Amino acid sequence: MKYRRLGSAGLRVSELSIGAWVTYGGQVDDSGTRACLLAAYEAGVNFFDNAEAYADGNAEISMGKVLKELPRESYVVSTKIFWGGKGANDTGLSRKHLTEGFHKALKRLQVDYVDLIFCHRPDPDTPIAETVWTMDNFIRQGKALYWGASEWDAQQLTEAYAVSQQHHLLPPQMEQPQYNMFHRERVEKEYAPLYQMMGLGTTIWSPLASGLLSGKYNDGVVPPDSRAALPGYEWLRKEVLRPDRLAVVKQLAPIAAELGCTIAQMALAWCLKNPHVSTVITGASRPEQVRENMKALDVVEKLTPDVMERIETLLGNRPK
Ligand code: NDP
Repeated sequence: MKYRRLGSAGLRVSELSIGAWVTYGGQVDDSGTRACLLAAYEAGVNFFDNAEAYADGNAEISMGKVLKELPRESYVVSTKIFWGGKGANDTGLSRKHLTEGFHKALKRLQVDYVDLIFCHRPDPDTPIAETVWTMDNFIRQGKALYWGASEWDAQQLTEAYAVSQQHHLLPPQMEQPQYNMFHRERVEKEYAPLYQMMGLGTTIWSPLASGLLSGKYNDGVVPPDSRAALPGYEWLRKEVLRPDRLAVVKQLAPIAAELGCTIAQMALAWCLKNPHVSTVITGASRPEQVRENMKALDVVEKLTPDVMERIETLLGNRPK
């Protein structure tokens, strides 16, 4: 495993990491969660991503049981706060919800502090300064080491950074945006000025577009043990498994075969070719997927400029 700095922070995160969305504490039970997380840890993964919203808190409980077995200094764990429940103050980025949501997350994860805390979405109803002050406070209290955002636009990040500079507060250090072969604009274009200006790191999500980029949906059949077959994920079949995208994934298959890897490994390695990606958060519903995905690290060097150009031509979506 290789490790990258989280933007301009001193923290080092494994190039491939693992996250809990959909799977742990929900689709997958405690023993499945343990098998996946330990397979990742054994491969050198040091970053485990979570959120208060995942499986209504169960994802943190399930992951926390596994992390408890590991030396605290050997891993980086995150949570993301925004969606905590149905009450008037159970969502958003107010000082009240951030504080209450975060304290509950720490208990579920069974840790004294998280390494990374994210604002899971922007909150137009809370002044950005209130959120920045609250995040700064968590770090000064030793309950979090770095703070960041997820799916904020460049303007919101710039504003938070400006507030932090004006008031001598700790700035946001990282963003958690979606990034994969089909979703590139924000990471490659919108955030481009921010990497240097504020030392922004990125912990990118859905690198396989929820499994589409594994090629397993290529035959037009949804395997019954896949995410797209889960109840409540009809949107995935409609919005992600689109015929135009499936056509592209089919054309990626021969390139992966030439490189001697799977489409999933090539798609993960492709994300790692971007130097502004600090870590690629993988997802896996079983340890075999973890082991396959971790081998993506060996594929990065096979993505020569020539191969990257062939992929680029196929994708046809390079941000202008
Ligand atoms: P991916 O796009 O990589 O999808 C992962 C899913 O694809 C797995 O759960 C599995 O689902 C399937 N899969 C993975 N590897 C393989 C393989 N080798 N072969 C076949 N199928 C495979 O990532 P996620 O969408 O899970 O996102 C990763 C993480 O990012 C999340 O866990 C979460 O921590 C974070 N995230 C953050 C968000 C945010 O708003 N900040 C939003 C979404 C995710 P199955 O076997 O069930 O088909």
